[in-house]
Amino acid sequence: MDDVADVVIIGGGPVGAALALALSGSGLAVTLLEARAGAQRVSDPRPLALSYGSRLVLERLGVWNALAPATAIDRIHVSQQGGFGRVALSASEARLPALGYVVDYTQLHATLENALQDRLLHYLAGAKVIAVRDAQESSIVEFMAGGVQQSVAARLVVAADGGALEGVATTKAVDYHQSAVTARVRSELPHRNTAFERFTSSGPLALLPSGQDFALVWTAEYEQAQKLCDLSSDQFLFRLRQNLGGRLGAFTETGARSLFPLRLKYATHVVRPRTILIGNAAQTLHPVAGQGFNLGLRDAWELAGEIMRRERDAIGGAAMLRAYQARRRLDRGGGIWFTHSLVRLFSNDIAPVRAVRGAGLTLLGCVPPLKDFVVRRMTFGARG
Ligand SMILES: Cc1cc2nc3c(=O)[nH]c(=O)nc-3n(C[C@H](O)[C@H](O)[C@H](O)COP(=O)(O)OP(=O)(O)OC[C@H]3O[C@@H](n4cnc5c(N)ncnc54)[C@H](O)[C@@H]3O)c2cc1C
Repeated sequence: MDDVADVVIIGGGPVGAALALALSGSGLAVTLLEARAGAQRVSDPRPLALSYGSRLVLERLGVWNALAPATAIDRIHVSQQGGFGRVALSASEARLPALGYVVDYTQLHATLENALQDRLLHYLAGAKVIAVRDAQESSIVEFMAGGVQQSVAARLVVAADGGALEGVATTKAVDYHQSAVTARVRSELPHRNTAFERFTSSGPLALLPSGQDFALVWTAEYEQAQKLCDLSSDQFLFRLRQNLGGRLGAFTETGARSLFPLRLKYATHVVRPRTILIGNAAQTLHPVAGQGFNLGLRDAWELAGEIMRRERDAIGGAAMLRAYQARRRLDRGGGIWFTHSLVRLFSNDIAPVRAVRGAGLTLLGCVPPLKDFVVRRMTFGARG
């Protein structure tokens, strides 16, 4: 078994990279295969709200300082358009240094990749995995690199490919018929480190403090989202103010707008012989409530712990797979359920549902233990 890697990770996105970093220095033979060529810079305009729990993990991975300046979220204001009920969450009330931090995907990706290049010996960029085959005591990963088909055997294969690789797992999907429009916008009044989550009849809208500006994630049905992208800057900013109300004054500037089609896609089982799925490969969520990467990072962190607790020969074995699956069941199931329920409950304009939503928000605002539970759950996951 000498030619067998202990762990092969497919995908060097933020989740795969985090797992590789967590395992670096463990003495294990870890190989990371990333389809994108090394020279290909990632440019992805989506903002990411990181929970305080994610900050703690990124600190342990030694990359948090290099991510600076991430913008702290001190308060979150949640409301619905055209209905009563609102709730304000604050870091001081939750006894946390911040409720979260805003970075952008490009910045996070570049920071993790730099750390990987410094610390991981077997990082192959431009290696596109085409298949994973089961063998007796290992799995065989086949990939294309430099136009040549190659393979590597591993005790454990971790699929962190964001869900792009077909055939690794059986999946279920729900199409929300929505896209997210992202853009940087500037408002007349400063954000004072407050994030706004506004539920509108077309879908949820999030304004995240980012530097001096806001990073906007506005979800709407496919056609409406495309129309939002096609509006002139002035019309777009006016529509934004109409949907958010006047609490930030007028919106004065906007950057380029980008579209992301949204759906829920999840693997029915996150383990199969000698293989584990993590991050978006295991569950791709709607961005409402900003759970996807935070959940994926907890997958990576807990998997690293599970791997390092084992003897080398036990890595990828049935007992390890069972233990990982059991460990992640509650957090993963809760994250999928919570996100999906929010989308279903808040993406419509039916009057009785609006009243139930309002009552729910009011209740959340009035019952401190409930508020505390929600904040802790979003900060640290189900095991927090
Ligand atoms: C608009 C929007 C806003 C969001 N906001 C938030 C937020 O605020 N907070 C939050 O926590 N989450 C948020 N998310 C979710 C977050 O972006 C994802 O959960 C996160 O990017 C998942 O990371 P990943 O590494 O699992 O997958 P990915 O980011 O998709 O990375 C997968 C990697 O695998 C590589 N790859 C793919 N196929 C192969 C192959 N065959 N061989 C080798 N490599 C391969 C790809 O090149 C890529 O580098 C948001 C998502 C969207 C769309």
